[in-house]
Amino acid sequence: MKKIEILPEFRLDFPYNLPALDYEYAALEPYIDARTMEIHHTKHHQAYVDNLNKALGEDALISKPLLHLFNNAEKLTPAIRNNGGGHYNHSFFWKLLKVNNNEKPDGELLNHIMRTFGSFDEFKDEFAKSAAGRFGSGWAWLSLDDENKLFISSTPNQDNPLMSTAEKRGYPILGLDVWEHAYYLHYQNRRPDYVKAFWNVVNWTEVENRYKAIIK
Ligand code: MN
Repeated sequence: MKKIEILPEFRLDFPYNLPALDYEYAALEPYIDARTMEIHHTKHHQAYVDNLNKALGEDALISKPLLHLFNNAEKLTPAIRNNGGGHYNHSFFWKLLKVNNNEKPDGELLNHIMRTFGSFDEFKDEFAKSAAGRFGSGWAWLSLDDENKLFISSTPNQDNPLMSTAEKRGYPILGLDVWEHAYYLHYQNRRPDYVKAFWNVVNWTEVENRYKAIIK
């Protein structure tokens, strides 16, 4: 993982704080409802932040950036790994969301996706399968690896592809929270409907910016 230090969030540092959203809780309606967003942000994400700060406590790990801890994920206590992942993943996820009127990225990223997956629709199908197929709680991701190849993966719990424990490691450029708390109020058990709705709220500009920063 050569490029971890160029990620914009590299400096996420102790004590961690709940980041403000760049939009209102209702901004993603009707695809993600305001009540879900509010609870997700103020209760779930806040709990990851609080529990991460508590778990780090006096630990020597306190002086290491979160992304350095992910490089040694197998050595972390479950509390630091789960809440550190939870804080990172949600901070990343909020930035990716915006009701879009461009259903796909353009330029270099779109070409790269089409070269890798055959077409944009095949990419969406594979991502949706990964999200739907994650048993229990976790995340689906689109990432770049150290060779600048795109790949789709899913991780359990609050793990992510940056972690040394990931089956395949890489730098996420898109992620989807498939924990029930992310969709249950509106979609109940219909995770595939939530995944389908997600395509309306991907902020492709943000994904592209991240892609360009990592691929350099
Ligand atoms: Mn969540």
